[in-house]
Amino acid sequence: MAQKARAKTKATAKPKAVEEERKWVEMQCAFCQGTGRDPFGVMSVLSNCAVCGGMGTVRVKEPYVPCRACGGRGIQSFTRLACMGCGGKGVSHVEEPTETCPVCKGTGLDGLHLYCLRCHGTGVATAKTADS
Ligand SMILES: [Zn+2]
Ligand SMILES: [Zn+2]
Ligand SMILES: [Zn+2]
Repeated sequence: MAQKARAKTKATAKPKAVEEERKWVEMQCAFCQGTGRDPFGVMSVLSNCAVCGGMGTVRVKEPYVPCRACGGRGIQSFTRLACMGCGGKGVSHVEEPTETCPVCKGTGLDGLHLYCLRCHGTGVATAKTADS
């Protein structure tokens, strides 16, 4: 009950949400190639794309790199599923600074899991910042 003038004086501060918004870019959904439909019609030819929910576009946080596990197609090799590395977007967000993934040597692939768990199929991993 005691919060009268306080809220108004603080209203000049920039809302944090705006700055966050800039780091996200909208791009064509790789999985359905922007059609918004399930590219394989697994459920029905009219069913929505599971990746973009029928929007045809997906939002990716910058900076991002193309997914190597699926070659940027958003589709897992040998399956009709969305790539597990990038979630079907064809690109993946990476935190800078980056380096070639030491686990998959930049291929983005792992024999057992189809995509490299360390770099999520990007072939690029966040470099460890060394203090020394
Ligand atoms: Zn889609
Ligand atoms: Zn992928
Ligand atoms: Zn890797």
